[in-house]
Amino acid sequence: MRPEILYPLFASVGSLSGVGDKAHKFLNTLLGGDKIVNLLWHLPSGIVDRTYSPRLSEAVAGRICTLKVRVVEHIAPKTNRQPYRVVVEDESGRLELIFFKVYADSIKKNLPDGAVRIISGKLESFNGMWQMPHPDFILRPEQFSDDMKKETVYPLTAGITGKMIRKFAAQALARVPQLPEWIDAEFLRRQNWKGFKGALAAAHHPEYESDLEPWSGERSRLAYDELLANQLALAIVRQKVRKQPGREIRGNGMLRKKVLEALPFALTSAQQKVLDEIYADQAAKFRMLRLLQGDVGSGKTVVALLSMLNAVECGAQAAIMAPTEILAKQHLETIAPLLENVGLRAELLTGRIKGKTRAKILEDLEAGKINILVGTHALFQENVIFKDLAFVVVDEQHRFGVHQRLSLSEKGNQADMLVMTATPIPRTLVLTAYGDMEYSKIDQMPEGRKPTDTRVLPIDKLSEVAAGLKRRLDGGARAYWVCPLVEESEKLDLAAAEERFASLQKVFGNKVGLVHGKMKEKDKDAVMERFKKGEISLLVATTVIEVGVNVPEATIMVIEHAERFGLAQLHQLRGRIKRGCSASTCLLMYAGPLSETGKERLNIMKHSEDGFEIAEKDLELRGGGEILGTRQSGFTMFRIADMSAHKNLLHIANQDAKMILETDPELKSERGKALRVLLYLFEKDDSVRTYKA
Ligand code: ADP
Ligand code: MG
Repeated sequence: MRPEILYPLFASVGSLSGVGDKAHKFLNTLLGGDKIVNLLWHLPSGIVDRTYSPRLSEAVAGRICTLKVRVVEHIAPKTNRQPYRVVVEDESGRLELIFFKVYADSIKKNLPDGAVRIISGKLESFNGMWQMPHPDFILRPEQFSDDMKKETVYPLTAGITGKMIRKFAAQALARVPQLPEWIDAEFLRRQNWKGFKGALAAAHHPEYESDLEPWSGERSRLAYDELLANQLALAIVRQKVRKQPGREIRGNGMLRKKVLEALPFALTSAQQKVLDEIYADQAAKFRMLRLLQGDVGSGKTVVALLSMLNAVECGAQAAIMAPTEILAKQHLETIAPLLENVGLRAELLTGRIKGKTRAKILEDLEAGKINILVGTHALFQENVIFKDLAFVVVDEQHRFGVHQRLSLSEKGNQADMLVMTATPIPRTLVLTAYGDMEYSKIDQMPEGRKPTDTRVLPIDKLSEVAAGLKRRLDGGARAYWVCPLVEESEKLDLAAAEERFASLQKVFGNKVGLVHGKMKEKDKDAVMERFKKGEISLLVATTVIEVGVNVPEATIMVIEHAERFGLAQLHQLRGRIKRGCSASTCLLMYAGPLSETGKERLNIMKHSEDGFEIAEKDLELRGGGEILGTRQSGFTMFRIADMSAHKNLLHIANQDAKMILETDPELKSERGKALRVLLYLFEKDDSVRTYKA
């Protein structure tokens, strides 16, 4: 249960004065949540310095000035196009305030002749005359106070003005209680950091531009808090899994030997190394929880199969779970014949398998007649009962959070778990997202793969590309056409894909098919089948094809608006045409003009095919968070910490978390109790809940 001391911070922003229903809704969108904490994590993005108050005769054009002036004269416009002008003066000179499209009445009321006013805005020089278009504020002298000289700027959204958010943030800050210190005293002293409350207040009141930098003292402290909460939560989960007794799985190797003999290739040394790591985990007394990373095509499936067989050799069962039906089926197609060959049985279980077939599978599973079950999420429904499940593989599940992993591992009977991902994740991010797991990496590709010829082209070459494609398809080739991400909306994605589909139909007729995420699984599968069989030779797709699809005959890929994709995502997509041994071509089409970074990013794609190198570069160029494309949000989980700026702090937090749990595994000491507050503050409730008391 959340500690009472944090209640004020988890109240709704609707409880702040001045937040009506409308503002509440807008704030919710802007902050990604409607709690006071969400507002507190929303840090300023800039400051406007209004301290420059020169005499007009000494002023410098182009700067923001705050001036005390007297109103001299109003000059009404003669035509609609002219602005309304108001002449004002100080003791050294004159200045014209310029207003476009405003009501004369309100200006007259605000600036009566002869009145003294404080104005602030950008001073410009026009034909030897000082001008200030639309001052940021016009105040009576008694309305002006010193704190207006440094104006904090926040990221905004429609419906919320800077003035509103400053007012709300001030109220939110006033509600922050004095919290117990959770950072180690010595470390805090060495960093010269303020306490949490002080740091938060200071972060919301930057004085200098440098205060806005991620490495400023205040922001570093808050980033550390966030990273420590993240690392500690993962360490707690890991501690919990480690405490669970596991089974000592040590098969006799017979099945594995036979399967290996039946394979048309030998394992790469990278595959062998990873398998040895897995076998060691399986043989150990504790439960295994390991992440297996390997680029697309590096041969993870065989590794999964062999480690499952290790469990099967011991008389137990294994399961492999894929994120989609298509992928689950593909796994079955690879695995089933190999198993049959050694007298074993694999079956498929997805949500679509129903009725008698399903009943029979469930019956055989419980009776132990099925050795390996392949499927989707349906595998973990309550009525799916294994006779003796000892090993679980979760494939391509980077969308799976730590808490899902936790609940999944609770289902098997002390089952070991291997999570596989083809998304190359930089080391740093592995720590933040999978810090609860052991980690293996297949860092070498099987031999004989031909490189992909990747080209970067402007989108206005589209019709030439289509013509070239037509020649290749007429010659028997097969191709994907990937449609762009349009903002964060699946609906718009779909519209773009449908439009492209329609226009390509004009060129390719009934040779074109369309798949997208909004289609029913059944229809999607049907189109994929036709593409596999070659009845369709061009497949227009949204990013649904990203994960897994295996059509070795497809050797060409066109990606529209490649500049909108994350590099890791482009790499994944491109991986789809590298399945066979034939040469492949990838055309990255962009809409100009590209920024320098944009150019560099596409260039990386052109020159590298190493997923890990690409991911590291992407992280460098973009900072964390977005690395996998914002939609695969598993990684966009930090509100303050920034993966390029706070890398060092992450490593310290990682060590800190380990030390904490070594000395105080139950978080019962003074600091331990404060750390529980920290975990709740960053909404790591699930991990704290694993403690009983
Ligand atoms: P991924 O890691 O993307 O899941 P797969 O396991 O699907 O990769 O393997 C890609 C292809 O490479 C498959 O056709 C597989 O049979 C083949 N393969 C796997 N290991 C090797 C190897 N050691 N040598 C040659 N080919 C291999
Ligand atoms: Mg795979």
